[in-house]
Amino acid sequence: MRPFAYAAPGSLPAVLDALRDARPGTKILAGGTTLYDLMKLGVEAPPAVIDVHRLPELTGISVTETELVFGAGVRMADVSDHPVVSADYPALAESIWRAASQQLRNMATLGGNLLQRTRCSYFRDTDFACNKRKPGSGCDAMEGLDRHNALLGASSSCSATYAGDFAIALVAFDAVVDVAGPLGERSLALADLHVEPGENPDREHVLAADELIVRIRVPLTAVGRGSTYLKIRDRESYAFALASAAIGLVLDDGGVVTESRIALGGVATRPWRAVEAERSLLGSVLTEESARRAGEIAFAAARPGHTNGFRVELGIRTVAEAVRIAGKRAVR
Ligand code: SF4
Repeated sequence: MRPFAYAAPGSLPAVLDALRDARPGTKILAGGTTLYDLMKLGVEAPPAVIDVHRLPELTGISVTETELVFGAGVRMADVSDHPVVSADYPALAESIWRAASQQLRNMATLGGNLLQRTRCSYFRDTDFACNKRKPGSGCDAMEGLDRHNALLGASSSCSATYAGDFAIALVAFDAVVDVAGPLGERSLALADLHVEPGENPDREHVLAADELIVRIRVPLTAVGRGSTYLKIRDRESYAFALASAAIGLVLDDGGVVTESRIALGGVATRPWRAVEAERSLLGSVLTEESARRAGEIAFAAARPGHTNGFRVELGIRTVAEAVRIAGKRAVR
């Protein structure tokens, strides 16, 4: 690991001042569960880090009449254990509970989790070509091991999968992030936070270098109560998704679907909302066939590489099973 400068300003305005004056490449440090790993591997070599994990402005979970509000510095473990989150938004609680290990959940923050970098093994090994780590250097995953790489949203430059779970649940339920920067605060939909790789896979989100996520807001709706986050992986703990789905449903008294949300994880280059699949469920009673059909529509645009094609069928079945689970929980 290369030497770097460390600062821990004591307030949000002081952090914003430090970011304004920071050297290019300076990184924000929160829980440290990803950044320090990447620094040890030589993938990241920031000249300085600005530690925000003790900022009082980033703490706390609150419940208003209309929203769940999470400080960006809240630890992941505090979300999965929160009684209102588990009761009103099981998909949110499960997406956290199924992420990482308990030790990591005790350290990692929500803001850091949203902006975690890909697990593509070529990205994490500096002996290989990687357009995301070194723009223009090529992509060794294209002809290499792409078992975990993305089926949706890839480009000819990069097919790295977005690795997070929490953002998948957030994008399904129209969450918003509030961001602080030199001009004050702005809000943007979680769906607009991450970007597809296109020709510039090193750019993963729309935040400027001097901006910081301060909170995440999730609307309280009936569709949250009838929700689940189903994650399929090589082992049942401490592994990244081969396919995952966040589903929310509302049914009427006759069991007809009146509202539906579907988002996919582990299979796309960013948190992926499957709007056409959602529409396919509306206006009819849930059946095995309609659940399967929603999965097929969600993966209709999938473009597998040479070793990950099995995950198309796996993803379809993941959606279908998650629809069945959410249907049992749905508000009528
Ligand atoms: Fe790098 Fe993306 Fe290629 Fe992986 S898929 S090696 S992250 S450019």
